Amino acid sequence: MKTDNIFCISLGPGDAGLITVKAWKTLQSMDIVFCPVTQVGENIQSRAKDILVELGFDTARIELFNVPMSKNRSKAQKEYSDVAQQIAQYVDTGRQVAFVAEGDSGFYSSVHYVSDYLLEMGVSVQHIAGVPAFIACGALAGMHIVKQNEALLVIPSNTSIDEVSKALSENKTVVLMKLSMQKDIIQELVNNKMDVQLHYFENVGIADKEYYTCNHEDILKRTIPYFSILIIRKKD
Ligand code: SAH
Repeated sequence: MKTDNIFCISLGPGDAGLITVKAWKTLQSMDIVFCPVTQVGENIQSRAKDILVELGFDTARIELFNVPMSKNRSKAQKEYSDVAQQIAQYVDTGRQVAFVAEGDSGFYSSVHYVSDYLLEMGVSVQHIAGVPAFIACGALAGMHIVKQNEALLVIPSNTSIDEVSKALSENKTVVLMKLSMQKDIIQELVNNKMDVQLHYFENVGIADKEYYTCNHEDILKRTIPYFSILIIRKKD
């Protein structure tokens, strides 16, 4: 089966205003839109659904699917494959279907696995680009994330002080994603008294929850939530 009826749509990083015009127009022509739901501690949340609701999207067209956060990937893979099956069935009945991602769908986004499953089933998916969270972080800080000949290193887990120091010495800016899973490095960066700028962000674009600071002591006091990012630059 080949189709033009399935879209993987990036919504941007939490601030509903950061969705692209192309993504919004495509969403409006969809019969069904699947949103990922995650459980972080006691909280069940769908940032994607929140964005759609804020934009005034018809909630009757929204369906939710669970994205398990556990390290047991087989549980998650089963969910993605089940959603892919459901999407394929809807499309078989002539419906236009989308699944959505927070930030950009090709940037550390688990919903991309749904697309992979559909491809395995011989079903093509059209992807619509979005603003990744670290770009929104840079804008909030009003910072030049990289300039001139600088390179960028994005690290989602398990970095070390040596890896970060090496990158900075090579004039790279370092972006640490999924910060709640690599908390120790923050303490080490501060303790090492490295001559760096630490830009710490939480829940960028989310009303009442957004937080940004460069102050090292303040960073150490935070309870780091899942939606957090650290951007590290050598002092200019
Ligand atoms: N597809 C997303 C990334 C998803 S991975 C993107 O394009 O940005 C999830 C990680 O992204 C989180 O752990 C956090 O590090 C970061 N993130 C996503 N949204 C965020 C936000 N609004 N504020 C701060 N960090 C965010």
